[in-house]
Amino acid sequence: MSLTLDEIQNFKGKYPRQIWSLFFSEMWERFCFYGMRGMLVFFMISQLNFHEKEANLQYGATQAFVYAFTFVGGLFADKILGFRKSLFWGGLLMIVGSLILATDPHKFFFLGIAFTVVGTGFFKPNISSMVGQLYKPNDSRADAGFSLFYAGINLGALLGGYLCIAIGKGEILSNTISEAMRWNVAFGLASIVMVISLINFIFTQKRMGTIGLQPGHPLAEVKAAPIPKWKEYGVYVLSLIFVPIIMKMVAKTEYTDYFMWTIGPLTLIYLFYEMSKVTVSERKKLWAALVFIIFSILFWGIYEQSGGSLSIFAAKNLNKDLLGLDPNGVNNSGGAFFIIFLAPLIGLLWIWLNKRKIEPNTIVKFGLGFIFLGAGYYVLFATRLFADLQGITSLNFFTLALLIITLGELCLSPIGLSIMTKLSTKNLQGMMMGMWFLASAYGQYVAGIIGAGLATAKEGSTNYDALITYTDGYKQLGLYAVIAGVVLILISPFVKKLMQDVK
Ligand code: GLN
Repeated sequence: MSLTLDEIQNFKGKYPRQIWSLFFSEMWERFCFYGMRGMLVFFMISQLNFHEKEANLQYGATQAFVYAFTFVGGLFADKILGFRKSLFWGGLLMIVGSLILATDPHKFFFLGIAFTVVGTGFFKPNISSMVGQLYKPNDSRADAGFSLFYAGINLGALLGGYLCIAIGKGEILSNTISEAMRWNVAFGLASIVMVISLINFIFTQKRMGTIGLQPGHPLAEVKAAPIPKWKEYGVYVLSLIFVPIIMKMVAKTEYTDYFMWTIGPLTLIYLFYEMSKVTVSERKKLWAALVFIIFSILFWGIYEQSGGSLSIFAAKNLNKDLLGLDPNGVNNSGGAFFIIFLAPLIGLLWIWLNKRKIEPNTIVKFGLGFIFLGAGYYVLFATRLFADLQGITSLNFFTLALLIITLGELCLSPIGLSIMTKLSTKNLQGMMMGMWFLASAYGQYVAGIIGAGLATAKEGSTNYDALITYTDGYKQLGLYAVIAGVVLILISPFVKKLMQDVK
């Protein structure tokens, strides 16, 4: 006998049971995604002989397309496929993508990446929307659930990000895997874990009641006419048609700019169109969602320096005073490491504060997220105080900054997922979640521009000058983040009005 939505949502205790299953599917998906992402730049430079700049641009383009495609994936889920079928289809495309790369990464590089981009678009937003549906709209335990889910995301990110490239480079398992096959195995591993993710999801579905069913399914919560089969197959065909297009666009990075300048306005126009069809109260909530989405662009723009300028900073300006660890390794995985431990704790903190009726609401949490982010960047600025004359400074202190930035991320990113599910109308859940991720595509894009600005100032200068230039830049970013945090807290009464009963 399958569960009803009420039975699922009226769970006792802190977390719904199903969240663990979604946690694991998302964990493996993120393993695949971050595993692949972690290999991109290195593979392009060492195996495909790309120049550093070209490889970085191409990496940026891939990131932008991946997150931009979540909008498309979310939209089709709402209108035609439902969350479950979307997730499944996305997962299959990701498996195909990594199998293509596993077969011959040199020859089929962009083809494999394009499959992964489209696949992620269908998978990523829709699994998060399903987490939201485990809760009643005003269940105060949702933020804790999303925080736990976020720990799963980062566990996958950490494992995949570490293992895939380590296999590719021959740092591990070099005795068992011949040199010629290392990259094939590394990309192949991504496909294996993605298969695990989908198998896990097949079992999960049984306990999901009506959550994620296709619109028009006889048991679906929102009653609608069944979707004709040709529409469903149409989506599958259309997504396959996108593959060669994305392949071309990623390969020629000039297109990324055009794409980024077009997709945002188009999605906004579409959102406004959808907003014209809902009630006044629903429309206000969607406006509030848009405020969160827009602020998140700035957050990710500053935050995502970690993949760009901070990795150069880590390579050139940091020592190894933290247990002898490699500064780049710490920069790449420190955040995920902290999150795995802190996310569940912070989730429980929200529940604890709620019981005492002093839990901050979402806008204040966002504000705090920015203030932590800003404080973290001020600590990055302060690393210069520990520098020697060669411009080398303390990794310990840098790691402290990472910890503070991570606290900021935890006040914003899982909370953002949670609030999207609460503020969206039932028929726009997927699309709004897609917009949330689209904002991170813009964040990545802005981050690249900021990072490039910092890097040009650096050319031709000494390592010490570079330290000064970079840390000056971080101080500036810290200031912007703090200002954004204060603005959010100041406008909170206004946004609260738009949110009405949602906290
Ligand atoms: N690191 C998180 C994830 O992979 C957040 C990504 C984002 O929104 N930019 O899901």
